[in-house]
Amino acid sequence: MRACVRAVLLYSCSLVLLYSCSLVLLYSCSLVLNPSYFVLISATQARALLQTAAEKRFAILAVNADSHAAITDCLEAARECAAPIIIETSLWQLTGRSFGNGDPILGLSRYLSDLTVLAGSERYRDVPIIFHTDHIKGPDTLRILSAAICGVPGRASTISLDSSELSEPANIEHICELCEIAKKAGAPLTLEMEAGVDAGVTEIEVADRLLGAVDSKHPGILALWAPGVGTQHGLSDKGYPFSAEAVARHHERASAICGRPIGLALHGSSGLKESDLRAGVAAGVVKVNWSSESLLIRSRAAQEYYAKHAAEMEKTHPEWKATAMDHGVQSYVSERYLPKVSERIRILGGEGRGLQLTSTTIS
Ligand SMILES: [Zn+2]
Repeated sequence: MRACVRAVLLYSCSLVLLYSCSLVLLYSCSLVLNPSYFVLISATQARALLQTAAEKRFAILAVNADSHAAITDCLEAARECAAPIIIETSLWQLTGRSFGNGDPILGLSRYLSDLTVLAGSERYRDVPIIFHTDHIKGPDTLRILSAAICGVPGRASTISLDSSELSEPANIEHICELCEIAKKAGAPLTLEMEAGVDAGVTEIEVADRLLGAVDSKHPGILALWAPGVGTQHGLSDKGYPFSAEAVARHHERASAICGRPIGLALHGSSGLKESDLRAGVAAGVVKVNWSSESLLIRSRAAQEYYAKHAAEMEKTHPEWKATAMDHGVQSYVSERYLPKVSERIRILGGEGRGLQLTSTTIS
């Protein structure tokens, strides 16, 4: 009996060994056959890419994508524009039905797996794809972000946490703790630090206190600064008191504190005019978060699709199945959403930067 168990164990081990060797061989071959092949942008590459954006004055669109179809549409737009793109996820996506279904770590793992496969595919291999964690908050923050830093097994390119409910010392403490976690794990880390993104314009002294405290303890890890510059999350009919002058001031101060170009991450961009976006980029914005308007475009298109195809949704209709399947509504949404993503990438000056970055910055 023991001999039999030993034989089964031996057989299983040899299968695992054979499988691992095949994977290594396949991976090596893909590297040899595709010299420009790269997977998801790493933390170190992201830092270089964001610094290039700050120096050359363009911004990367960061879409809060909450489904696999939304991710595909964003990558298609980036491919069409030959632009880099940031795909970011908040807690509600990680725990949403498309990804974790209540479990944020499972959600992170599914999100990263999806993006990693897409980033390594033939179709998107020339698109620099950054994966960013956005607005992670609550008691699970450090557990989720530790997983994103150390790997599930894929790793996030850049990390941020939602500081809206944290005091300044708590914000500093959390950010420094993430640096310690990365250090202990031997994992590279690139961070965005935020301060009062919905609270009007952040005083310049806040940059001294927050960025100064983190960069002196953990030099080189901060790459993005997200102060308030007059924008507001969500959609509103009210005018936005956006200040490009505040962007310039914060960009300059953040870069002086850290001794390297630090671009700004712009939250709450949905209500901004095209002229404000352009002025923001010229003043030092390198990452533009886009969520509310993106959701509005997608949900309105879906609403329109179901209203337009009400007759085909009857179960006796010959087109019922093709109309009812997810692919039907997703294709309709995609046709309307994708041009809007491309338009935004172009406004931010991202068009044509992908290949340029692939061949120079990311090597
Ligand atoms: Zn935000």
